[in-house]
Amino acid sequence: MLDAVSPLAATSTEAKLYDALIIGAGFAGMYQLHSLRDRLGISAHVLEAGDGVGGTWYWNRYPGARCDSESHSYCYHFSDELVQGWEWSERYPSQPEILRYLNYAADKLDLKRDITFKARVVSASYDEGENLWHVRTEQGGHYAARFLITAVGCLSSANLPKIDGISDFQGKWYHTGEWPHEGVDFSGKRVGVIGTGSTGIQAIPVVAAAAKHLTVFQRTANYSIPARNAPLTDDFKKYVRENFAEIRDVMRSTVNGHPWRIADRSVFDVSDEERDKIFEMAWEKGGLRLRAEFRDVLTNEEANEVVSAFLKKKIGQIVKDPAKAAILADIDHGFATKRPPIDTGYFETYNRDNVALVNLRAEPIERITATGVKTSKGEYPLDIIVFATGFDAMTGPLFNLNIAGRNGLALRDVWREGPRSYLGLQVVGFPNLFTITGPGSPSVLTNMIVSIEHHVEWITRCMQHVVASNAQTIETTQQAQDAWVTHVNAVADMTLFPSCNSWYLGANVPGKPRVFMPLPGFPDYAQRCSDVESNDYRGFELTR
Ligand code: NAP
Repeated sequence: MLDAVSPLAATSTEAKLYDALIIGAGFAGMYQLHSLRDRLGISAHVLEAGDGVGGTWYWNRYPGARCDSESHSYCYHFSDELVQGWEWSERYPSQPEILRYLNYAADKLDLKRDITFKARVVSASYDEGENLWHVRTEQGGHYAARFLITAVGCLSSANLPKIDGISDFQGKWYHTGEWPHEGVDFSGKRVGVIGTGSTGIQAIPVVAAAAKHLTVFQRTANYSIPARNAPLTDDFKKYVRENFAEIRDVMRSTVNGHPWRIADRSVFDVSDEERDKIFEMAWEKGGLRLRAEFRDVLTNEEANEVVSAFLKKKIGQIVKDPAKAAILADIDHGFATKRPPIDTGYFETYNRDNVALVNLRAEPIERITATGVKTSKGEYPLDIIVFATGFDAMTGPLFNLNIAGRNGLALRDVWREGPRSYLGLQVVGFPNLFTITGPGSPSVLTNMIVSIEHHVEWITRCMQHVVASNAQTIETTQQAQDAWVTHVNAVADMTLFPSCNSWYLGANVPGKPRVFMPLPGFPDYAQRCSDVESNDYRGFELTR
């Protein structure tokens, strides 16, 4: 334990004392624990609400749950040993396989002994006199540490819409982000799915195949690209094992942190014929690579319209019923301005006899009744309702912790008008608190693992610097934070992201301020973080 912390143990009531507390045992929290405990050699402990590791992949067990990043990129890259000791089975990893992987990593790194499971954090407050963060759990646990690191993910606070009558419903209802571990039996049931984001688009084909009848309630139509998921070949597995360093370099040098480069050509650099050929090939290959075929898809409105038109046309080619096809292709935003889903048989599902589509733009939901969902045009009888209605993204998981900094300042109040941070890592008034993949950093605009590893490694070196400097606290300055917020807004305004109502902007949660929360562009961001570090942590102040 750090010398400066130990003497305080006596003064710190009955709290269990550590140098660092980490909240959350997903990809981020696990790696942060390993880095602090095994590299920095300080005492670190993780508090986790679930009864196992996994984070997102512990909670999101809905049918069809699978990652959109390709499996060889969606795993820890920091350890060759972990890479070489694991073999993914499919192009995109399923939720159960990712959970097995995280347990494999936790066991290999011997992490579980320093994680308290079933410990849901309900408050975290900074005591200036002691220079300690006091963290309390729903289960009555009390912990304290000099450093506090949130590793709670960006999409872990379920957004359950306030629809009248839900308590009257006699059937069963579930939110995809809090799915029962024992699974849900859809056989013989009339099921309604509300929501057609990435989650709904993954779940709908699987539910349709299992249920007697499925009604999809669509408010906003969405693009989707076939994932073309398939078992990985032995050749590909060998390629990954032998070229991992190179793959890692590509991921760290591209805007979205995926293992492919973005083509350096405009949509308008090629003829219409050539462009169609490129799109068709990308469609056949499947997945998010389509977005990378041209560099201006998210910066030039006309370029975006061309890609969007191609994808809308595909819907009409797949869906046989023209009325359904028209509802599905009536998309009101540009491709990838919202997070682009990828799918396995999504649009094809609407060709099944047992699947109905309700256009909530034409007939909004009025209420949930004892027996189903009532819209302005009629009632849909249901046995099960699945809410695939997303998350209170990025700020929601942090607000749930009830974080209070200097003078009892609540993060919820400080961010009332929207999140403000320096580098997405620290907030003025909250010394020694680090937010992994916090608002103001690339986070959800990347393959999450790239952003997570970058943050964990940066935080670890930063804490090492604090300790080596014999400092008690590190805290960003108001000036640095204000300049960073201006930078994030300026970068977002160079893109088409702010043009639609997405959860990136908080637009999916009624009353949430409309602020673009992540920062586009991983490599530029990483360079700025390195510059800060090599300039004596410019923008941060240390107190001794
Ligand atoms: P989402 O993208 O926010 O989609 C929520 C859906 O629910 C939208 O269609 C939304 O319609 C609808 N909805 C919300 N409230 C509603 C209401 N009151 N009435 C009717 N419809 C309502 O959430 P998500 O699909 O869970 O995805 C969230 C993010 O999680 C993704 O963007 C992605 O980053 C991540 N994710 C990743 C994967 C993966 O890697 N495989 C899978 C799933 C999710 P509106 O658009 O009209 O608001």
